[in-house]
Amino acid sequence: MKVVLQNLTKIYPSRNKKTDSDVIAVNDFSFEIASGDLVGLLGPSGCGKSTALNLICGLQSPTSGSIFFDEDDVTAVPPERRGVGVVFQNYALYPHLTVKENILFPLQNLKGPDKIPKQDMLNRANEVAGLVQIAGLMERKPSELSGGQQQRVAIARALVKMPRILLLDEPFSNLDARLRLQTREELRRIQRQTQITTVFVTHDQEEAMSISDTIIVMRDGKIEQIGKPQQVYDNPANLFVASFLGTPPINVFEGHVANGSAYIGNEAVISGINAENQQVYIGIRPEGFILNRQGPLKCELSRVEAMGRDISIVSKHSASASSIVRSICSESDISFESEQVCFSLKPEKVFLFSKETEERITSA
Ligand code: ADP
Ligand code: MG
Repeated sequence: MKVVLQNLTKIYPSRNKKTDSDVIAVNDFSFEIASGDLVGLLGPSGCGKSTALNLICGLQSPTSGSIFFDEDDVTAVPPERRGVGVVFQNYALYPHLTVKENILFPLQNLKGPDKIPKQDMLNRANEVAGLVQIAGLMERKPSELSGGQQQRVAIARALVKMPRILLLDEPFSNLDARLRLQTREELRRIQRQTQITTVFVTHDQEEAMSISDTIIVMRDGKIEQIGKPQQVYDNPANLFVASFLGTPPINVFEGHVANGSAYIGNEAVISGINAENQQVYIGIRPEGFILNRQGPLKCELSRVEAMGRDISIVSKHSASASSIVRSICSESDISFESEQVCFSLKPEKVFLFSKETEERITSA
């Protein structure tokens, strides 16, 4: 099922009229989620991700705007009638119930015409337990499960009502690093298998990039950019998006454009630029540096770290916005005896941003 948000806005009024101002948690959201897509809603803490999710599931009502599930306007439909499955950040399972009872719980609560026979409930519980691979744990209590297993139970509980949409709010934040990795692959598999339109919220760009069909990057309640992860990484719309995506992060330098070249200090680092002369930020992805003794970008070498196939070079430059410049280069025969390290740059890994607006300058 597709989900359409139209000019969706949520304003939390200030409690104290004198000191606070209203918070616009979700600011004029308009986008369409294609049926069967896995969408990662991504942004720093406090940017409005949970609010956006709560609007979609109906736990909060928008200040203005509309939500459609396919052609149905569900803006005024209560959450229990929207057919959404939700996994919250603190997906508390009922500690006194077994895994099976936890999964059955949402079905046992169905009322009136939605009620389903006991055997059907059990069949469904077994089916989703199989799907998330916890079929052997049905008689255990949550305290007898690992964190990852508990997370699967929470997902099973959200799936058991056969929702039309699955919504997950920072679903992996309580798991350790390895389990996060494993569980996000699991989510991808379950989502592929069920084809349920899914929105999951995260502040972790790598998590969103790795499993999403589409990412939506948010800042301060606004959508900054929507696209396929690789597309957004390769074509960031502005400095914020460029800086938010990628580990290690993009290196940002102060520079300027003059007569078709981009300069850092007095050195022309990229030529053939079709933009007016102006002050710019120059963003260089770590993989955009090429070790080159004659290269125009001259940095002060701090250290070289081996990373298996590649080497990571940490250096400094007076025009760099951060204290270190981190570049990742393939192993080379350059010896690092001098205090200086010189680079040329891969043009497709270099982005220019207006110093004034921080919007990307694309040369035609
Ligand atoms: P995120 O999930 O991205 O961390 P939230 O959606 O929780 O962000 O919050 C977005 C903004 O709205 C924050 O500034 C937060 O303080 C504010 N906010 C969230 N919930 C409420 C609420 N119930 N009342 C007032 N302000 C809220
Ligand atoms: Mg949140």
